[in-house]
Amino acid sequence: MRYRLQNRDLPGSPDFANRKQRWAVFAHGCFWHAHPGCARATIPKRNHEFWATKLARNRQRDAEVVAALEAEGFRVLTIWACEVERDSDSARRALEVFLRSGPQET
Ligand SMILES: [Zn+2]
Repeated sequence: MRYRLQNRDLPGSPDFANRKQRWAVFAHGCFWHAHPGCARATIPKRNHEFWATKLARNRQRDAEVVAALEAEGFRVLTIWACEVERDSDSARRALEVFLRSGPQET
């Protein structure tokens, strides 16, 4: 698998990406990226308004980043920290399936 780490010139600076095959992968922490339905995606009670706004903004930005990448023809996969920690084999398989399901390098 060929990829570049830290792609600052792509929207959202994906953690892994391959321009030629046009895919991008994000590895997201559940708290900072407000993983939907995840027990770790809590909003702190202290300074609740501040956190609610900040985390909602993070989530909004993530959605915009995915939309921007898809508009450039990228396929995008997000891997969540809780999934990797719960079952890293399953997370790795999901990643492999994602990478294989795209156009192959010639
Ligand atoms: Zn999570």
